[in-house]
Amino acid sequence: MSEQGSVAAKIEKLRARLREKPALHFIAGEFTDAGSEDSFVTLNPATNEPLAEVARGGEPQVAQAAAAASKAFPRWRALSAKERGRLMLAIAERLVAKTEELSTVECLDSGQVLRIVRAQVARAAENFSFYAEYAQRLFEGHTYPMDDRFLFYTVREPVGPVGIITPWNAPLMLATWRVAPALVAGNTVILKPAEWAPLTANLLAEAIAEAGVPPGVFNVVHGFGEEAGAALVSHPQVPLITLTGETTTGKTVMANAAQHLKKLSLELGGKSPAILFADAELEAALDAIVFQIFSFNGERCTANSRLLVERPILDRVLQEVTRRARNLRLGDPLDPATELGPLIHPEHLDRVLRYVAIGQEEGAQLLCGGRRWGERGNFMEATVFFGNNAMRIAQEEIFGPVLVVIPFDTEEQAVQLANDSSYGLAAYVFTSNLERGHRVARKLETGMVWLGSHNVRHLPTPFGGVKGSGTHREGGLYAFDFYTEWKCIAVPLQRVQAPPMGKEGP
Ligand code: NAD
Repeated sequence: MSEQGSVAAKIEKLRARLREKPALHFIAGEFTDAGSEDSFVTLNPATNEPLAEVARGGEPQVAQAAAAASKAFPRWRALSAKERGRLMLAIAERLVAKTEELSTVECLDSGQVLRIVRAQVARAAENFSFYAEYAQRLFEGHTYPMDDRFLFYTVREPVGPVGIITPWNAPLMLATWRVAPALVAGNTVILKPAEWAPLTANLLAEAIAEAGVPPGVFNVVHGFGEEAGAALVSHPQVPLITLTGETTTGKTVMANAAQHLKKLSLELGGKSPAILFADAELEAALDAIVFQIFSFNGERCTANSRLLVERPILDRVLQEVTRRARNLRLGDPLDPATELGPLIHPEHLDRVLRYVAIGQEEGAQLLCGGRRWGERGNFMEATVFFGNNAMRIAQEEIFGPVLVVIPFDTEEQAVQLANDSSYGLAAYVFTSNLERGHRVARKLETGMVWLGSHNVRHLPTPFGGVKGSGTHREGGLYAFDFYTEWKCIAVPLQRVQAPPMGKEGP
């Protein structure tokens, strides 16, 4: 059999296995339907054919997972951080060993293209090895001597079962980015994956079990946001919730979590600007900008979906961005040559196409794309609009391969346009003037700024946004600030005399 033939045969075998075996919840170390009476079907976005049946969880399944996670918590937190770190390394190794299976399943389930998905699987493993190394940093605290009378010192404590709710655009990578710090810090986990791309969560569960993590420490409950997700947010035994998703979902989750005063980390939507000054190194800047909007099929929270261009280079930029968008290779996400795959779901394709119509209705100029592509699946052409920042297509998150180009005349105007947004996740600034780059970066109302680069992630750094883009930072030690509670312990260095009360009687 040719190499291509054998790859196709392997994929077909995997597809058949997914069809035959429903994806179950993972609770207390077992794959189980946990009494779910219903199921749902996940589709292959490249064809919209059913890919697998998935157990549909709700309150009873969340309750079982919460009980398992609560039961496992005391022993898990009592392990040494070194031992937990060793188990994180073992998980990383299992993920690396499963690279082909994970990549293929993620491609089939999410429609993300192979070249992106392979990198994401490597990142998923790295998330665990990174936090394995960080295990010792859990012991970094502070001491506060108070004259020579007292010493106060701080320690981090795990909190308990963490509810992790994830989206469909980078399912495995985004789940591991939360699971790894939560576990290494001594918490147990209940993961609720997105219903449109739930399958790699079960492969992650397999890897975690194979690594030797005790039953109940990591659990998965599948289901819809309004059912399984909402049940997790309101379960009294789950004190921490981290959600990555839309801003509207973040608001609902915050309102529901308020009933229980839960600690929340919200990583939400974005409408990130790239600011392109006329003095930038244009080819390199365009490489970064085109990648940052059209990679991940445009379904990327940090996409530079607004391109602010200094007017002297506007015509050239419009021409070149349009040319490159037209050149993108659309096709089967499993083909290593494909650059732009299908959108996740027919409903999402409709939503993105509706934004194309909205853009045209509000007078934006459609420079290329804007149409569905191919006979089947949820493919859409890479789309470039010329418009202004007040338009809905420049204000609302589209989460598809749609770029809006907006001109500016001065640095002040560029900053004002960039900040005229209800979101504040990332920004990208392209200029050869170093001082201006730093000056503009400081003025931007976003959680992250890249100068002269696309989004290159460095794991110790804080990731997250301001305004409608979220409430927290994850990454490095910042994640520990969420997944642990600081405790302050006071030690008297000499006898402490409290003011006597009630000693003498009336
Ligand atoms: P979504 O908000 O529809 O769903 C995210 C998750 O929340 C899913 O698991 C869903 O089932 C669950 N959910 C929905 N309603 C819920 C409820 N009432 N209670 C509890 N859980 C509920 O988001 P999506 O469409 O899956 O993902 C795309 C969004 O995610 C975009 O807005 C994107 O910008 C954002 N995102 C943000 C980041 C980041 O780090 N800031 C990263 C990736 C994606």
